[in-house]
Amino acid sequence: MIYDLTREELEKYFLDNNDKKFRAEQVFKWLYQKKIKKYEEMTDIKKETLEKLNNDLPIERVKLVNVERDKDVNKYLFKLKDNEHIEAVLMRHDYGNSICVSSQIGCNMGCKFCESGRRKKIRNLTSGEIVTQVLEVEEDIKERITHVVVMGIGEPFDNYDEVIRFCKIINDPKGLAIGSRHITISTCGIIPKIREFSDLDMQINLAISLHAPNTELRSKIMPINKAYPLNDLMKEIKKYVEKTNRRVTFEYILLKNVNDTEIHAKELAKLLRGINCYVNLIPYNETENIEYERSNMFQIMKFYDILKKENINVTIRKEFGSKISAACGQLRSKKEEK
Ligand code: SAH
Repeated sequence: MIYDLTREELEKYFLDNNDKKFRAEQVFKWLYQKKIKKYEEMTDIKKETLEKLNNDLPIERVKLVNVERDKDVNKYLFKLKDNEHIEAVLMRHDYGNSICVSSQIGCNMGCKFCESGRRKKIRNLTSGEIVTQVLEVEEDIKERITHVVVMGIGEPFDNYDEVIRFCKIINDPKGLAIGSRHITISTCGIIPKIREFSDLDMQINLAISLHAPNTELRSKIMPINKAYPLNDLMKEIKKYVEKTNRRVTFEYILLKNVNDTEIHAKELAKLLRGINCYVNLIPYNETENIEYERSNMFQIMKFYDILKKENINVTIRKEFGSKISAACGQLRSKKEEK
């Protein structure tokens, strides 16, 4: 389908079909700026060309089936071609509209605290299925989306090629023109892909779901740490920061009596010392099916203060959407549960 293609790939399609390269730019403008949904509306392209396009690369989007609205946040449920469901979340910030997109149906990473990972991966999403989450939400709010985080259901680096293709499509100046500095990919730490990402010539932000300051604890709550242990992960991240000169974000959820003590905070500060980074402390969102509890505010502030004192850049994540189960780690498709 057409939304799976970068402009470069579409240029190649036209060249292969004895047409002009700039046709791709025309199509991109129709799709992403005028946001039309039918080829026949592309009035500056020949009818035969459009018919062929419609055959080769149909215009198909994920299908919006439900929206839940809260104050600054909407949660969207989408149905896919194979009747699977995924979710995306829109957050209204003072700096703009940010969307959190899903990258897979289910997830194989098995993090113990995460609701989205309770369902095994069914398949990867295609780039077009990720792109059209953005288009559908823009259409719903009738406003531009300025920021994108790949932090919904799935492990983006377990679907690396499609996620990067997605980034290229939405970043394209002839497309949605979402600045790469406004795009963030979050990973639980798949080292070979972090390496590949270091060499990617785009200024996309990288976030690492860290959640533990030592490897023993990390293995207990995040099975991925057995394949890619913390020490190796930290080495790779240091290389990434050196190579790209970019700051990396560490996400750290605070789980009561698991990873939230003063000792953990000091250990974390030591682990991160000297790395150009900042830490995003996430109050844990409790879910029905998982036993972990949220640290109390006092403990969260204490953790925060210790990191501050150790000169680590740190913020506590603004909370969004827990009322409608749209917050971090709560996304899944309730529908499939039935
Ligand atoms: N798989 C990727 C992308 C998901 S990002 C990753 O792991 O980074 C979603 C973030 O929310 C991750 O940092 C995840 O660890 C965190 N998270 C999972 N469950 C949570 C919960 N119940 N409360 C708060 N954060 C949670």
